[in-house]
Parts: sequence; C-alpha cells; structure tokens
Amino acid sequence: MKSLDQLKEEIKEEASENPEKFFATEVLKEKGFSRGQCKNCRLYFWSSDPEREICGEPECGDGYTFINDSPTEVELTHTESWELFQEFMDDRGYASIDRYPVVARWRDDVEFTGASIYCFQPYVVSGEAEPPADELIIPQPSLRFNDVDNVGITGRHYTNFTMIGQTCFQPPEKYDQDRYFRDMFEFAVEGLGIPEEKLILHEDSWGGGGNLGACMEFFVDGLELWNQVYMFYKQTPEGYEELDLKVLDMGMGHERITWISRGTETSYESVMPETLSKMKERTGLEIDQEVWEKFLPHSSELNIDEVDDIDEKWKEVAEKIDEDVDNLKDEIKPAAALYSIAEHSRALNFALADGKIPSNTGGGHNLRMIYRRAKDFIEKYNWELKMTEVARWNAEELEPMFPELLESIDEIQRILEVEAKKYEKAREKAEKKLSELESQPSVEKMIELYESHGVSPEMMEEAGFEVPEDFYMQIGEEDEAIQEVEEDFDLEGVSETEKLYYDRREPYRKDGKTENFDFKAEILEVIDDEWIVLDRTMFYPQGGGQMHDVGKINGFQVEDVQKQSGVVLHRAPDHDLEEGQSVKGVVNGEKRKQLTQHHSTTHMVNAAAREELGEHIYQAGANKTLEKARLDITHYEKPDRETLDEIEASVREIIEEDHEINVLEMEKSDAEQEHGFRIYQGGAPPGNTIRLIDIEDVDIEACGGTHLTQSSHAEEFVITGCKRIQDGVIRLEYKAGESAREFQREVEGRVKEVSKLLDAEIPDDTRNVQRSLCEVFSVEPEHLVDTVERFMREVDGFEEKIEKLSDFLGEDTQISKVRRETTLETAESLYSIRKDREKKVENLESQIEEFLEEELEKNDFEEVEAEVPTENVGLLIQVAQKLSSKHQACITLIGEKGAVSASQTDESAEEKLEKYSDSVQGGKEFAKAFDI
Ligand SMILES: [Zn+2]
Ligand SMILES: [Zn+2]
Repeated sequence: MKSLDQLKEEIKEEASENPEKFFATEVLKEKGFSRGQCKNCRLYFWSSDPEREICGEPECGDGYTFINDSPTEVELTHTESWELFQEFMDDRGYASIDRYPVVARWRDDVEFTGASIYCFQPYVVSGEAEPPADELIIPQPSLRFNDVDNVGITGRHYTNFTMIGQTCFQPPEKYDQDRYFRDMFEFAVEGLGIPEEKLILHEDSWGGGGNLGACMEFFVDGLELWNQVYMFYKQTPEGYEELDLKVLDMGMGHERITWISRGTETSYESVMPETLSKMKERTGLEIDQEVWEKFLPHSSELNIDEVDDIDEKWKEVAEKIDEDVDNLKDEIKPAAALYSIAEHSRALNFALADGKIPSNTGGGHNLRMIYRRAKDFIEKYNWELKMTEVARWNAEELEPMFPELLESIDEIQRILEVEAKKYEKAREKAEKKLSELESQPSVEKMIELYESHGVSPEMMEEAGFEVPEDFYMQIGEEDEAIQEVEEDFDLEGVSETEKLYYDRREPYRKDGKTENFDFKAEILEVIDDEWIVLDRTMFYPQGGGQMHDVGKINGFQVEDVQKQSGVVLHRAPDHDLEEGQSVKGVVNGEKRKQLTQHHSTTHMVNAAAREELGEHIYQAGANKTLEKARLDITHYEKPDRETLDEIEASVREIIEEDHEINVLEMEKSDAEQEHGFRIYQGGAPPGNTIRLIDIEDVDIEACGGTHLTQSSHAEEFVITGCKRIQDGVIRLEYKAGESAREFQREVEGRVKEVSKLLDAEIPDDTRNVQRSLCEVFSVEPEHLVDTVERFMREVDGFEEKIEKLSDFLGEDTQISKVRRETTLETAESLYSIRKDREKKVENLESQIEEFLEEELEKNDFEEVEAEVPTENVGLLIQVAQKLSSKHQACITLIGEKGAVSASQTDESAEEKLEKYSDSVQGGKEFAKAFDI
C-alpha cells in the first residue's frame, strides 16, 4: 500500500507536468501572473514578476517580512477578519455555515476535527450525503497535536486554530474552478488590500481524511495565508481514484489573516491580545522587544518540522542576530511559555465545551498533555496563574464569534479543577522519579520517564537536564489509517433482506400480555449449514449495541441474528430447512419488549445524565441485553450516590410523564442544522438520510435500534451500578421493565430474609435498607444473607468462649446482647456486638499467662498442668514456651484442639504430653511437645 506522502508526490508531479489540467492558469494569466521555478527548492510558483527566481517560502526568501510592516490595507481584530471574509463571500453567493464541533462524532476514523473539510468527510465528499450548501464558507475551529513543540516558539503554531473554509461540492459540469480561484485571488487583493506583487502562489498537493488533490498555496511576505485544494480523489488501498463529485477545499488560516493585517511580533499577540495582556499583568512578565524584534524574523527557521538539528539552529540564529545563545533562550523561552499557556487553554476551551474529557487514552490524552504542558510552564516560572482564569479570559475574548465557550465556562472550569487535582498527584509521583535521576538521561530514557511516569520535558529541563526541542514529536504521532471493512460471510450474489423489524414498534398489547409476532418468508440461502438467509425478516439483527432478537423459524430455535451488507443471517444450529422453502418466523415478543425497553431507556439515561452532570456528557458506548443495559458516558469523575439517585429519579419522571417517542427519517444535513451534532451519540451512519429517535422534549438522536412508542411503556427503571471504566468514562448500569421488577423482587426477598434472620420487622423501603446493610457489612448484595448468618453464628460462638474463659480465670465478664429494633438497627447492633465480643475473647486470652503464673507460684514454680478452654493452640504454645523458659518449669496446657507441653528438659515434656494427649480432641497428632 502506498503512503499518503507517496500519493501526494505523484499528484504533485502530474500537476507540475500538466498545470492547465489542475490549476486556474487562465485566470492567473489574465491577472498578469506567470510561472516560475524556485532556484532553491525547485517548486513551481506563480507571481506577477516574470523575473522572479525564488518561491514564497520563508526558508527560500527572507523569512517573515511583514512584521511591523503589514502589507494589507486593513488592520483587523480576530473577529473582524472573519466578518470581512464573510461579507466578501456573501456577495459572491456562498452560504455561511455555523461551525461544527471540534470533537468529530460523525466520524469513526478521527477524534478531532483537524480541518474544515473534516466536517464533510466521508459521506458528503463521497457524494452519499447532501452538503448543507453546494458552495459554502465556514469558520471551523480545528485541533491538531502534531506541532506541540512548535507552539509558542515559532510565533505562529497552534494546536487549536480556526480554519476558514471555502468549500464547494459540485458535479463536474457545474464545478467552476476559475470562479473559485478568482474569488480568493480577489479577496486577497480587493478584500485585504494586498498588492498583487506580494502574492506568490505555489503549486503543490494535499491529502487528509481519506481524500487528496492538487493545490495552490497563497504566500505573502513569507507567510502562507491559505491553501486551495482541488480535492478530486479518494484514497484507496491501491492508490487513489476519482470522486463522483468535484470538491473544492480551500482552508484559510483565520489566525494568519488577523496576524498579517496587524504585523505584530507573533501571531498570538494579534489573535489573543486581551488574554495575553491580562496574563502579562498577572505574571509580571516583560518582553524585551529589542531581542524579540531581532529574533522573530528568524523564528520560522526554528520550525521543528523542518529542521534536523534544532540546537545547531539556535546557535545559528543567535549568531545571525549577534546574541549569546543562552541569553537568547532565556529571553525567548519564558515568553514562548506564556504564549503556549494561552494557546493550550484556548484549545482546551473548545474541546471541553464540545464534550471531550482529558484522560489517559486517545484524544483525551492529547488534552491532558497540553493541559500538563501549560501547568508545567506555570510551575517552572512560578507564576501566579490559574488555568481556570486563563480559560475565562479566552472565552471572553472569543465571545463575539463563539459565544458558546463563555456559556459553558462554569463546566469547563469544573473539569479543569478536577484535572488540576490529577495533575498535582501525578506531579508528586513524577518528581519522585525525577529525583532518582543522577545523570543526564538518554532520549529513550526520557521518553520512558514521560510515558510511564509523567515526567514532562518541562520538568526535566527545570531539573537541569538537556531536553531535545522536538521532544513531543519524538514521542510520535499517530498515522491516519484507512479503515478496512472485515467481511465474515461470502455473500456474493445474495440479495438484501427486506427489513420488517421496524414495522411493528411494539410487539405487545397494552394490557401487559405480550404476544409474539410471526411472518412468512422464503429461504434464499443456507450458509455454513446453520445460517439462514430469508427474503424478508422481522428478526432484529445484532447492532447499535442492541442484542439480536430470538425466536423460531419453522419451530427451530434462532440463537443469533447478524447483518452484513444489508443481508440478515439467522443462526439456527439444528434446522433441517432447505433453500427455496417457505417458512414461518416467530419473534419472541417478551424478549423483544425487554430489549426495546432497555434501548429506549438508554436514550433517557443519556438525557438525564446530561441534565444532571452537564453538556459535556456524550455516549461513549452502550449495550442492551435482555438482562440489563449499560451506557458509558464521558465524565471526569464517578458520580456520588445522590447524583445517581437524581439521574434515576429523572428517568422515572420521563417514564411517568409519558412522552411520545417518534421515529423520523431526515436528510442528514437538515438534521444536523436543525438538531445539532448531539444527534450523533453513536457515530454517524452512511447514506444521505438518517433515522432519528425523538423522545419528545427529552432527547433526539440518530439510532437504528427498536424503540417504544411512549416513554411510559418502559414501565419500571432502576440504576443497578456505576463504575469508572477508564479515565474520563463512567459506566452506568440499569434495568427497565420486567427486568427492573425482577431486580426489585430480588432486593425485597433478600431484605426479607435478613429481617427474618434478625427477627426484625420487614421494612418498606427495601432498596435503601439493602444499600445500608451492604455498607454496614461491606459486602455486595449477593453476599448479604450469608454474611448476616455468619455474624450471628460468630456472636454465639464468642459468647460461649467468653463464658468458658471467664469461668477458667474466675472472672465475671458482662456480655451485652444484640439490640432488636428495625432491621437496619439490629444489623448495626449485630455488627458492633460481634466486634465487641471478639475483643473480649482477646482480652481474656491475654490474661491466661498471668493466671498460669499465679498457679506456678502456688507450685513453687516447678510445674503446672491446666485445661485451658481455648481452641487457640498458637496461644497455648506461646504461653507454655514463655513461662517454662522464664521459670525453668514444666508447663502442660490442654486446649480444645490440642495439648502442648514445654519444659527445660525434653524428656519431661514428652512424658507429660504422653499422659494428656489422648484425652484431648484431635488425639495424639494434634499434641505437640516443645523443647527449649
Ligand atoms: Zn523555494
Ligand atoms: Zn439508540
């Protein structure tokens, strides 16, 4: 399989040999532009100067030449630069679309939206789904984590940037490359007022998200402002193939437009001036303008992507601007740290507002990484700065364009606070690891320290170790992979099954009596002996986390139902049916009802959890079986008991309020615009239309499962468990309908049994009582009865021991009795009485030594024989050994499970033992003699 880079290279080569086929060369010529080839890097470019010999890359030219010398006619704030573009393109007929979430829930190949085109991949680009408009613009916040090392230092790198898209989806006959190109060319010259001679246009190629094409990059004064990609291809395992639609994907760096219009030292100063000024005020950090002004024209040379030996590069840059390299780093690095903190906080704002939680896996891990990088900088420079306040400043500054960030700021801050606690803990551990380091570690060792122990490069640097500048890059980035579809059955030539399983939504009567439902069908195919393919079926196949239906085909048990490429396969292991035969299928209604109740309540749980916990709650996984259902939600900590009770109460309320549940078929882009991206709780299905389950006024989401018609048909609901299954993901377990009633009966039965054992009255609120009982004895419900029985036995056993020992020692020991009140009070009393009696036995046993010493005294310390009422042979051994050695006496003790004898001479011990060993329980083999 060819790599994406190889394919891009192929397309670039083809385009440079045949530019007329790929680029708007006619328009370029009309504008007076001509083609040249860079004498440094061999790249083909277009410019208004036919004599020009170098391209627009900063490395080939003089770096950034717009600093303090903006080439634009307008000076724009960040919001204004979008508004300018929006107006300009509105006049030319483009529809302006609201941003998509940065968490790409409609895709299963990537976690974050990394570019504006991601919003429309894969189904719009492939032509399967309609776009929201054929020709549109969109300001799309995007997240990429492959440039983390560069953030801050180069003055222009971001993990979160807004890519403004000019995006068109047209059939070949309507696709107008010249117009699209002209619009952007004229935006540069007329909109921004950039002189034509400053524009250098590069021929290149670009690929991502499974698509690729030739592209033209717009450079001005060393800065690439945007890239217009002619996305005509789809990546395949063999290479690439042409798309049905012609797609234009222009991505413009919103931050770069703002920056070039202002010409500040760094992009950050143009884009987030308010946040930065608050941060500077708070930290007292002053930036030496002189050094920065000298450094910044060269900052782009420190782009870690493109430099082999970064340390050498620092020296080079320092030499060029006539600065000591260490002084230069001391000046640049704290400012770069401040910029990084501001930038990372902005990225976190978008991700958290869109429902991604920092964690230790996948995309959540990227969020944790930048959070911790920012925190490490704060620690390193000892700044009085809170991530929660930087988050608020950023949200306030972005409010005109993205008001949703400020709307979610309380929730964002809560998540950041939880993350701060986790950071403190991890930092403590990491510092311990770091303190064990005695000499400069190798890069491999550093990577291990980072990945396994959370020792960050910032911490290592702080401790005085040398860290490579491109550390985060060395950790490695994940490749974008093309998903391969696994095919289990060979279904060549088998036609799709007609789906009847949505026809009847509820296979049961309202009076509670459940009926099965039957259908007639014909067997099309028998595969591997046991799998039956019918022309039509009412059996719901396994899918969307919902278990398949069970039932019978012509009396033969159906044990599994799967679907593959539209064909439903029924597994009936014992059947003797043949192809072409007409059969009767019967789906078990009782079981379908249970599955349907579990599925509809899953949507209710999701809505209730969001209501109770916040907007960051999304489904991370779900499963619905006959016995129970579970929903995994994105949340940063395990909810407490009260919160779970509230979620449960809230679901019960939804059931009681009897909301209608409707199934809607809609065009995808309409559904997205109307209901937002929340509809994709379990990812987006292929195709142009989408099936939505709308629980009126409660929840609406895309789903292919079976659902009730009214929320009240869920009948009953209980949450049975909750646990944290991974960082940032909480699992809720619950039951509905008959399964919930069954659960309640079990609880009742169990509490009844415990009450009977304790001779207490049966309580009304059995569920709460069970919960408290489990807490008293620290056991799971299923062990409750056994445990109470054991405690009762032990309480009696201890009583007996206390009596015997008291008799033996001539003590008078008071024994308190279990208080008999309510079930719970009695249980609590039982628990403490058992503890109390156990303690008493221990106390009495410890008095044995003293007692025997008195006996020895009576015998002039020669010998003592005693029957001690204890099973504790270990104790007897201890006492016998101690006394015999202390008093040079012979001690023989007869316990209930064996006798021991110890003396200063071996023989006398043996002798004594011989005499008594037969008389004690367990016989001779239990008796032991000890020599000292
Ligand atoms: Zn060049
Ligand atoms: Zn569903």
